[in-house]
Amino acid sequence: MITRTLGQTGIRVSVVGFGGMRFFNRDEAEAEAKATVRRCVEKGITFFETGSYGGGRSEEVLGKALWEVTRRDQVVLADKAAVADFPSAAAVSAAMEASLRRYRTDYFDVFNFWGTNTPEMHEHILRAGLLDEVLRAKEEGLVRAIGLTTHARPEWIRDFVEVYPWDCVVLKEHLLYSRNQELIAHLADRGIGVVVMTPLAGGVVAHPGAAIREMLTQAGTTPAVLGLRYLVANPGVSSAISGMTTPDEIDENVRAGAIEGPLTATELGLIDEIRRRTSALGERFCTSCGYCMPCPQEVNIPGIFRLWNLQRGYGNDAYSRLEYQKLCEQRHWADFPGASAEHCVECGLCETKCPEGLPIIADLKKAHADLTAPQS
Ligand code: SF4
Ligand code: SF4
Repeated sequence: MITRTLGQTGIRVSVVGFGGMRFFNRDEAEAEAKATVRRCVEKGITFFETGSYGGGRSEEVLGKALWEVTRRDQVVLADKAAVADFPSAAAVSAAMEASLRRYRTDYFDVFNFWGTNTPEMHEHILRAGLLDEVLRAKEEGLVRAIGLTTHARPEWIRDFVEVYPWDCVVLKEHLLYSRNQELIAHLADRGIGVVVMTPLAGGVVAHPGAAIREMLTQAGTTPAVLGLRYLVANPGVSSAISGMTTPDEIDENVRAGAIEGPLTATELGLIDEIRRRTSALGERFCTSCGYCMPCPQEVNIPGIFRLWNLQRGYGNDAYSRLEYQKLCEQRHWADFPGASAEHCVECGLCETKCPEGLPIIADLKKAHADLTAPQS
């Protein structure tokens, strides 16, 4: 596994890191966590990132699993606190201390202001004393580096780092829609660490239909390996943090993190071809981040869009239709539980929270129509 220094912090991170966002979601999380984390550690993954997902369950489960298989000084931990949850500085330290307790650790290597998505939020961090509070924690040895997790427009992120020299920025970038390449180079030039979240677009990159999979197999690669290679071949990227839950996923991700050098002509050709074939997805599509949830009607927004994306953009029609049918019929063995798109009452709550700015209500109707359309 290749390691890189996170900006100018001196902290070495594996180029493929572990993202804990989906870790707590699974009923079997505790039972599987130890095996998953052990495999990550054995394979050279040293960078673990999570936050208070599931009311802190992700931190608890990940911390417990980590300390059973490795030592604190063998791993780099990144955690975060949601800017929107802190109207004043007073609560930031309390939240950080709660996260440290859940994780059962004395310090975080990296602490990020989570969801710094607008200039107003960035200003709030500085004006309301949130940064000062974390800087104090840094002096006390509770934190080694401070950064931002953001879905903001590239030009806004440039402004953020002009105003304050953050140690690192966690941003979104993936093979299917490359929006931050210039920004990544800019941040790297300034000595700011770049961590890529959702590197496989919430699983969309990793699960193509048969035609794309076959094309990649013939080229000796896999969708996940190519998706991660696209990111980690860029020397400006310190690490791409991927949510991994099975040994196979870990092995694939690790494979991508062990390949040195820039993208080859073959890899570039494959990426161009995948982009051509998946252009139906458009520039912005759901990446299963889950920020729009919960829906008061229990509509499984990320799940429905995941199936829609697999169907329209990645040629995975049969699985998408079948799973959506299961969801509609509320079958207990459905991969995607919850309510179908038809249960949406158009309250609009979700649309205000989507970092992609998706017209969720309208798109749910389109997704339902496509996923239930009679087959020709
Ligand atoms: S608009 Fe529909 S999908 Fe969105 S939160 Fe309201 S009911 Fe749920
Ligand atoms: S609809 Fe938007 S907020 Fe909801 S999961 Fe998809 S990208 Fe995230």
